[in-house]
Amino acid sequence: MKRILQRAALVTVVSLSALAIGLFLILRVPPPSRPLLPFAEDKACAVAITDDTDFFQYFTTQPVYDVLDSLGIRLTKTIWVFDHEKNDPAKAGISLRDPHYRAWVLRARERGHEITLHSASSGDDTRERTLAAFDTIRAMTGEYPRLEIFHSGNREALYWGGKRIPNRFLRGLYDLKMKQRFEGDEPSSPLYWLDVARARVRYLRTFTFNELDTWAVNPTMPYLDPSTPDAPLWFASSNARWGEKFAQLFAREKVERLKRSHGVSVVYTHFGLWFTERSAGGAHRLRSDVREAMTRIGSDPAIEFLPAGELLDRLRWQQWIAAGLAAGERTIRLPRDAEGRLSDLSVEPAKLPRSWKLPEAARRGGRRDLASWAHDAGLTLEFAERAYLDAPARISGWERWRLTWTWLVTQLISPT
Ligand SMILES: [Zn+2]
Repeated sequence: MKRILQRAALVTVVSLSALAIGLFLILRVPPPSRPLLPFAEDKACAVAITDDTDFFQYFTTQPVYDVLDSLGIRLTKTIWVFDHEKNDPAKAGISLRDPHYRAWVLRARERGHEITLHSASSGDDTRERTLAAFDTIRAMTGEYPRLEIFHSGNREALYWGGKRIPNRFLRGLYDLKMKQRFEGDEPSSPLYWLDVARARVRYLRTFTFNELDTWAVNPTMPYLDPSTPDAPLWFASSNARWGEKFAQLFAREKVERLKRSHGVSVVYTHFGLWFTERSAGGAHRLRSDVREAMTRIGSDPAIEFLPAGELLDRLRWQQWIAAGLAAGERTIRLPRDAEGRLSDLSVEPAKLPRSWKLPEAARRGGRRDLASWAHDAGLTLEFAERAYLDAPARISGWERWRLTWTWLVTQLISPT
């Protein structure tokens, strides 16, 4: 009996160790080699903050934007175009139906913030309402938004919920727990809009993680998922869901690590959620931990703050350049709006892969701006009509698995 118990204990220990090692290997993100960087040579890292519009009210959110604007931080502000009949705007957050808010949003855009959709409204939206919301943004800004971040359980989301999980068994478990159905990609649903999604938006936000360096967790972003070939491109984000989480995500040592590794962070937050507290006089002021983190990062000249759409576009230019060089091409075609902006990107010549056929001189020297490097390396960059969804970077089966698995474990341990 004692022997059987001993053996059982041994088997348990060995299996648990194997599982732990397996998990470690799966979840481990190899230190990224980053020869091309989506920020200028005088910057150490890039941060793109996306503000989920839930709970937006002037008295809580305005003080946050006042501080951000005073620091010159440009970001992505999501909006709802319509109120939803099931939600009270005074609780869920206001929409463009409020003319003062509409004016507020336009002023935010004039200050350099990107305006985009957080779904058409705070509840399920029919195809007509979703398309009307995109048209409203285009009428306001002159163009469709570059990205969209779906609002929580809105059923018109594309390939959402368990549909994001590649494994049938895990998907079954997830659906059992979440019990939500998403129909934006189902042609028989009145909420369907997948057929026009790629003509409206380039990028969709998917999984959220707790690491500050989003690009390390998801190095191929923005990516095409071969299992959703008709969807726009996907990108991950880093969790700063409310005030305290924001301060924790931007803890001093994490920011220093982001700078050292030349990382990229796409931050997901709600500025309407516990960023402020009421002072004795009754007015709302920034929490002290948020104020400390925001002023520290906002006054750091080594960090580039930019809206997520601009960052994702820069990553697309890099993806085309990398793919062209890997294929031995000397002429690379980029969209017209990249013209004159390649000095916003930089190169680490010593880290360029040996498999890229380049003159030796192109591998020498320290970090420099991409435009002058490309010139010296004999590359021809052509600027022409090129759709952002053309020749997308595909996520490999392995990275897709790692991403999903890391996300599922994150949801179990410290949900985002
Ligand atoms: Zn939301």
